[in-house]
This record gives sequence, structure tokens and C-alpha cells, in this order.
Amino acid sequence: MRFQDKIVVITGGGNGMGKAAAERFSSEGAIVVLADWQIKDAEEVAASLPKDRAWPYKIDVSDPDAVKKMMDDIAAKYGKIDVLVNNAGILIPGKIMDASVEDWKKISSVNIDGVIYCAKFAMPYLIKSKGCIVNTASVSGLGGDWGMVYYCTTKGAVVNFTRALALDSGVNGVRVNSVCPCLVKTKMAANWPESAQAQFKNRVSLGRIPEAEEIASVMAFLASDDARFITGVNLPVDGGATASDGQPHLG
Ligand code: NAD
Repeated sequence: MRFQDKIVVITGGGNGMGKAAAERFSSEGAIVVLADWQIKDAEEVAASLPKDRAWPYKIDVSDPDAVKKMMDDIAAKYGKIDVLVNNAGILIPGKIMDASVEDWKKISSVNIDGVIYCAKFAMPYLIKSKGCIVNTASVSGLGGDWGMVYYCTTKGAVVNFTRALALDSGVNGVRVNSVCPCLVKTKMAANWPESAQAQFKNRVSLGRIPEAEEIASVMAFLASDDARFITGVNLPVDGGATASDGQPHLG
């Protein structure tokens, strides 16, 4: 019960890794705020958790005024914010000649702007609670993927945001880390055909695609007191994918 009565705000808490994180933090005693623009999904997750221990909150994280209001609303309701899981994100694949300027504005507004706004407007409360942030970056922020130039760019930004914000926040006792998953079994990944999934598995030493729960448990570790001396770290949760130098898997 590492999070007994802690207030944990999880963006994208209605699906995938955000949902798994909500279940994990809740199981360890937290009150979770499920901040998602798909409010029905957030409500469904909340209904599956202990009564009065989850608050579905409709938000578009790319709207700075709405994000500020949300953080203020949460602090007004519960008196504090202990953990921000900055997880909402979208994927728009494509090469630079195919993907439009509108695509860039859309993906960067969620994956970069949203992460920054949530951190910025949660920070006054995190300073008071000596809380922490866990961002969901990606292995796609640690290196490049073919045909995903915008996505990789946004996740690279999250990776360096994690480092720079950790430097500034240490003096206030606020830790900032990220998880960097490889392909995970969520809605975001559901559209990959079997043949593509086989190629992903081939690049993962542990030879399988992880469940969302296997990322959520690492988010919980990074947010917990067990990780109290870890900050500024972008932790691959990738079954060994980034252990490779990139040459083909022959053996
Ligand atoms: P998902 O699509 O299953 O869930 C994402 C959730 O975020 C959804 O509930 C969606 O409604 C919400 N969301 C999207 N944009 C939002 C916005 N502007 N405001 C509020 N909520 C918004 O995806 P997932 O796979 O669970 O992804 C979670 C995070 O993990 C993302 O940041 C994603 O980039 C990252 N990630 C995913 C994978 C993967 O393979 N699935 C791998 C590495 C990193």
C-alpha cells in the first residue's frame, strides 16, 4: 500500500496504460483522477474501482486553461496532488512528405504541449506535497523509428523535458522520471497487423509484446518511495529492445 490516500492524477486514464496505472495505484491505496477526453471510458474505469476512490475528469490536455482549472479543481476537492502520471498521448504515423502540417500541430499539441501544461499547472501542488511526475515517453523517444517522424520527435521532447525539469525540480524535492515502453498491447497498438507484431517481437529480447500492467507497475515503482533517489531518468520498459545496437536479429 505504497500510495495510501495519495492523490494520483493520471492523464489518459480511460484506456491502455493509463487505465492499467489507475488500477495499479488504486490497488495500492491511492485516490486516482482519470483525466481523459474520452469521459465515458474514464467513467467506466472509475466504476470498476473502489467507490469514491476515483474521479473521472473530462479534459483535453492540449488546452492550457482547462489543464490549469483541472489541477486547481483537484487540489480544491482533495486538498493536494501527490503524483502526476503524464500519460495521455496519440500516434500519427507517416513520413514527413506524407504527414501534414495539421498532423504535426495535432500530435505535438497532445504529446508535447499537453505534457508540459500538466506538469506546469500541477507543479505548485507537487512542490507542496514533495510529490513527483512520471511521464510516458517511449523507446521512440530514445531512438528513431521508420515512418514515425512526428511521433518520435514528440517522444524525444518528453525524454529531454524529463531531464531538464528534473534538474530544476530537485531543489523543491520533486522528482521527475519517465517510462519508455516498446510496443504495448493497447488500443494504440491494436491496428498493427500480425506480421508487424511478429517483427516487433523479433526485436525484443524477451520475445513478446508486454501487457499494459507491466508498464503500470514500473510507473508505480518510479512514483513510490522505493525510487526516492531516482530523478531525471528515462527508463526503458522494453524487454531489451534498446539493448540492441540495431543490427538484425539473426541468432
Ligand atoms: P490508448 O490510446 O490506449 O490510451 C490513451 C488515452 O489517452 C485514451 O484514453 C485517450 O482518450 C487519452 N487521450 C488522448 N489524447 C488526449 C487528450 N488530448 N486529452 C486527454 N486525454 C487524451 O494509448 P496507450 O497505448 O495506453 O498510450 C498511453 C501513452 O503511452 C501514450 O503517451 C503513448 O504515446 C505511450 N506509448 C504507447 C505505446 C504502445 O505501444 N501502446 C508504446 C510506447 C509509448
